[in-house]
Amino acid sequence: MADFNWTCPHCDRDVTITDERLTSQWHTNNIKNAFGRHTLVSKFIICPNPQCKKYTLSCALFESHYKSGENLDKEIQRWNLIPPSSAKSFPDFIPQQILSDYFEACLIRDLSPKASATLARRCLQGIIRDYWAVKPGKLFDEIEAIKDKIDPLTWDAIDAVRKVGNIGAHMEKDINLIVDVEPHEAELLINLIETLFKDWYVTREERRARLLAISGIAEQKDSQRKGNISNC
Ligand SMILES: [Zn+2]
Repeated sequence: MADFNWTCPHCDRDVTITDERLTSQWHTNNIKNAFGRHTLVSKFIICPNPQCKKYTLSCALFESHYKSGENLDKEIQRWNLIPPSSAKSFPDFIPQQILSDYFEACLIRDLSPKASATLARRCLQGIIRDYWAVKPGKLFDEIEAIKDKIDPLTWDAIDAVRKVGNIGAHMEKDINLIVDVEPHEAELLINLIETLFKDWYVTREERRARLLAISGIAEQKDSQRKGNISNC
């Protein structure tokens, strides 16, 4: 198999996977049955980053046929076993409740995109209340309250998460209105949450660390200078 680029879900590093980092097995059910001839492909990928070295395990079920060996046809279903979702790891300076809504939204993304969108919406509300310290109220008003504080593109995307998340959150108001959320739409909402984690929390923390380092240098110089004067 040709080498390919891959992002490790455990350490979030972009790495290249070579043959010795990947092991795969095919298991074909060729006993006559009502579903048809299917092949299960399991795959381990081992992260080459020496600080990580964790593996991912996924399985996929295919329709298959035999012609001078096994041949895979249409993919029927895919399961991410380890880790169980596409959730990325984020530092713990992001509040625990917000992170747990994010992990759950990722976990049920494919199984129930609507529930995932509802959780992404709740996660968004948690972020806005925590990061911008807005007065708790309706999400609509909370988003309005930060309109002049953030760039218009981010604001539009946030408002879109609110609207799509509403489909799951307020369904009981009109039971005749059935609007579905597709898995790729739920994925877009999750992507926005990840963007906000990085743009707001991670950027703020990195900036804080940089500024503290600068103040640290100044303090150090100051005490050195004082030391020199007292030595005179
Ligand atoms: Zn890794």
